[in-house]
Amino acid sequence: MGFFEQKNLSVMLSAEQVAARVAALGEQITRDYVGKLGADELVCIGILKGSFVFLADLVRRIDLPLVVDFIALSSYGDATESSGVVQLTQDLSRPIAGKHVLVVEDIVDTGLTMKYLLENLHTRHPASIKLASLLEKPTKNQAGVKVDYLGFAIEDKFVVGYGLDAASRYRNLPYIGLVTS
Ligand code: 5GP
Repeated sequence: MGFFEQKNLSVMLSAEQVAARVAALGEQITRDYVGKLGADELVCIGILKGSFVFLADLVRRIDLPLVVDFIALSSYGDATESSGVVQLTQDLSRPIAGKHVLVVEDIVDTGLTMKYLLENLHTRHPASIKLASLLEKPTKNQAGVKVDYLGFAIEDKFVVGYGLDAASRYRNLPYIGLVTS
């Protein structure tokens, strides 16, 4: 049996479901920005590492001139529970002043990581900032972070795959899954 079909994994969102939703988000983003960018390009910022798969698929569904940059964050403490204390471990490669920015995240759980990041990015004076997140656990989002482009609202379970890890593994699963044991 292959790694993707292990007995202790169950599928929450299939690769097909994810692909269809990502395509719809890309179309929506394209429509929203098409008259807004002028001669400028959209700056898509992926949050490392978890967003790399979502970002790769999403940007290919955005029919606009864009550039991709990355920022890396790590939250201190327990790997499965956000502490709200966030460290910026790798910064953007270019300034974003005056730019239209789309932050691309894998999952908003408590929202604390994203609240910290959005506050940090706002101080750099972009023209606008919007947030795309593949997943959100709405019952946990205590920071009140607003997801402008949401893939799926899910219940409060620890998910893996499509970029999301458990102890650094499972990022390569083509679907969003649950580890059952
Ligand atoms: P927050 O600060 O919103 O509580 O946490 C955000 C980060 O925690 C996400 O970017 C992700 O790295 C991690 N995280 C939260 N929930 C999950 C989950 O269900 N699965 C995985 N793999 N990571 C999660």
